[in-house]
Amino acid sequence: MSKSHHANRLNMQAFAREGIPLVGATPLQNMERLAQETQALEPDLMVNWEARAELRPGSGADEDVWLHLVATASVTLVCQRCMGAVATPLEIDQWYRFVATEEIAMAEDDESEEDLLVMEPHFDLLAVLEDELLMALPLVPMHEECPVAPVMQVGEDALSAGAGGKTGTGEEAPSGEKPNPFAVLSQLKKKTE
Ligand SMILES: [Zn+2]
Repeated sequence: MSKSHHANRLNMQAFAREGIPLVGATPLQNMERLAQETQALEPDLMVNWEARAELRPGSGADEDVWLHLVATASVTLVCQRCMGAVATPLEIDQWYRFVATEEIAMAEDDESEEDLLVMEPHFDLLAVLEDELLMALPLVPMHEECPVAPVMQVGEDALSAGAGGKTGTGEEAPSGEKPNPFAVLSQLKKKTE
């Protein structure tokens, strides 16, 4: 029976009536919108997910279809501090309730803790999964601790500290009492070499 369920065109009524979870692993590169947001896309990166639906008594004569979606993935994003690659885990754990029309979804959305989806004959679970993963992306991806010197920050410091004029490449930083940002930079360079 479950073999007849395809994640990109699910009959939600039948899926909920059966109540058997659908488990899958979808290559990240198959999710085009998500893949565009990520760096260093490796072909073996997978989104692991599990979906389960059930019928619950609703306000109308028919039972409501509810869907629980759980997923984990790890995407490679660009750290906004050091511009290096940062592996970012994504986790989805979300309940949805299906309603008959877009109008009902709009009307009931504010008072519902669960997300509302409009019932379709062929429901595209993978599209909803991709939407959720896109929303789960951090606005500003960043290492907890950057593996290298934060290039942007040093650059900004150098700009604000360089009031005296041109200091060149930093090779010939003038020695003063205060630590000079260029001296700090060249020290960091030495460390990493
Ligand atoms: Zn970083």
